Amino acid sequence: MREKKWIDCPVCGTKGSMRYSKGLMERFNPPGYEPIEVSGLDGSFCQECGDGFWSLKSKAAIAKELADSMAKQDSKRIVASEMLSVKEAAKLMRVTPQGIHKMMDEGRIHYVYAAGLRFPIRKDLTEKAAAFKGLLAAGKGQLSPG
Ligand SMILES: [Zn+2]
Repeated sequence: MREKKWIDCPVCGTKGSMRYSKGLMERFNPPGYEPIEVSGLDGSFCQECGDGFWSLKSKAAIAKELADSMAKQDSKRIVASEMLSVKEAAKLMRVTPQGIHKMMDEGRIHYVYAAGLRFPIRKDLTEKAAAFKGLLAAGKGQLSPG
């Protein structure tokens, strides 16, 4: 994916108002979770309306940080029976264990920490596996882990 260079603001339409900034911090409020702050972000933002876009790298960093922080918060309230091992998750999703780790890194599946290890959440995985099966049945190709 290539980074788009913003000059004119696509939100308010002001010409040449987009400025690149780095070292930004943003506070996210995922429903049902405590606020999560992510720092060291960069992106292009409009000097007029303040709207803008994170860089691709920052978007990935946000997804990873949110998944990770939510996992840490969930670790306190999710019980063992609601978790899957990475191996079980890989079998369910028909990908490799590495594929599951990558999906967790990218914030594409929910997981929790237990004893310092990451465990995918059963309910999230079974829903995604069902959607995946639906895709296969409809002949729309396959969900790639990368
Ligand atoms: Zn604007």
